[in-house]
Amino acid sequence: MPFLFDNSYSRLPDAFFSRTEPSPVSAPVMIQLNHDLAAELGIDIARLDSPEGLTILAGNHVPDGSEPLAMAYSGHQFGGFSPQLGDGRAILLGEVIGKAIIRYDIQLKGSGPTPFSRRGDGRSALGPVLREYIVSEAMAALGVPTTRALAAVASGDDVARNGMEPGGVLTRVASSHIRIGTFQWFAAREDHDNLKVLADYVIDRHYPDVRKEENQYRALLDRVIGRQAKLIAHWMQLGFIHGVMNTDNMTVSGETIDYGPCAFLDKYDPVKTFSSIDRQGRYAFSNQGPIAHWNLTRFAETLLPLLDNDPKKSVAQAEAALDQFPSLYQNALQKRFTAKIGIEGGDASDWSMAENLLSAMEKGEADFTQVFRHLPESLESGNDNAVARFFNQPEAIAAWLSNWRSCLHQFDRSQVLALMRRTNPVFIPRNHRIEEVIKAGNGGDFTPFHDLHQVLRNPFEEQAEFTKYEDSPTPDEVVRETFCGT
Ligand code: AMP
Ligand code: MG
Repeated sequence: MPFLFDNSYSRLPDAFFSRTEPSPVSAPVMIQLNHDLAAELGIDIARLDSPEGLTILAGNHVPDGSEPLAMAYSGHQFGGFSPQLGDGRAILLGEVIGKAIIRYDIQLKGSGPTPFSRRGDGRSALGPVLREYIVSEAMAALGVPTTRALAAVASGDDVARNGMEPGGVLTRVASSHIRIGTFQWFAAREDHDNLKVLADYVIDRHYPDVRKEENQYRALLDRVIGRQAKLIAHWMQLGFIHGVMNTDNMTVSGETIDYGPCAFLDKYDPVKTFSSIDRQGRYAFSNQGPIAHWNLTRFAETLLPLLDNDPKKSVAQAEAALDQFPSLYQNALQKRFTAKIGIEGGDASDWSMAENLLSAMEKGEADFTQVFRHLPESLESGNDNAVARFFNQPEAIAAWLSNWRSCLHQFDRSQVLALMRRTNPVFIPRNHRIEEVIKAGNGGDFTPFHDLHQVLRNPFEEQAEFTKYEDSPTPDEVVRETFCGT
């Protein structure tokens, strides 16, 4: 058996899920198997990297010890509440305990219909499978808490999306797939008993230290708020736009989940959205912090019956917890952005220096990743052009650069450079490169997939043979819109 399953979610009451088996696909082919991750998970890689392993990862064979199920959840989608969502195209095979004694879900995505599929086919096109594999693994390499990708399989079946497209199955790994929407499922049904079962399960699985607190559910709320504030600030540091921050796409573990219409900034534009369905810019780049706060407010609402027996006191607890979010987020954001300009533990004046750079970048239509990535070089050489060449009016940034350099005089030069180099990636999964990967993959050529994946294993390191992956898109390569692809 490749997986030594140790399942806990399937022991929870029936209201939490629906037992469902994956449906087989016609002609599965392995595109990529994540050996490093398999090792972290304590998986027998020789057994997984085999014809038997492929049948499991394609959903054609349910291995011993698996108790396949589709999880129940609700969610606010673009602000409107949908009481009935759930895993419509994903099936949890079971859980394994990794080397670090952490429990992980092993989930197939695109493995056929479940009772939650409604009108959907339960399948995934190959494009979104390749995108999620590349981007989630890149996020992990960039140091961001995220779900991981264990395998990408081409199914051999076509799915109807924008016309017919080849299908795929992704094996997703997460420290759990419990979302704010999972809590909303029980809150919407006023099922307070199971709400408590869920909260206790989450405390045991993700926040065991909360057990020692006087009000455990308040502590749980505080912890989730704290992790999300950090997570979103981390996205911002990298120019990442999630694109569909519905409450069903926000985990309570603090991992990034669901890489549907996600994208990375090219030119810096704080109000940028890519997703074709985000017409109002609800999930725009700079709105991600406020939206996380909004989502966490929905989470706090679900916990009201647990926070205190007195409803007034419950509301006061929830408000006190939620009121912490803006400053937690702002502090995390400032720390990350002052680090990007080489200042550890920056103060308010350092933050305004970072903000001034961002507004110059916005005006100058400068590439977010390129500018920060070349700051160390311009500091070392004293040459403005290393950075100024990315601005449409290079002279507009000269004053900022000179002020910045003189401000950095007070610090140790090698520490400043090292801080910037570990904060500003050389490589990100650029939108146009992802498109290139998907286009080639749909035609059966996975070379671009493998190349991009390889580069992104070490995103903070210069890689001379891959410099083209640093480049911003040419005007005709620019990706303007992304799609969920569901
Ligand atoms: P997502 O856009 O991935 O966050 O999904 C939102 C909801 O739609 C979830 O309940 C999914 O399970 C469901 N869904 C998405 N795609 C499909 C599909 N192809 N078939 C069935 N359900 C789907
Ligand atoms: Mg989702």
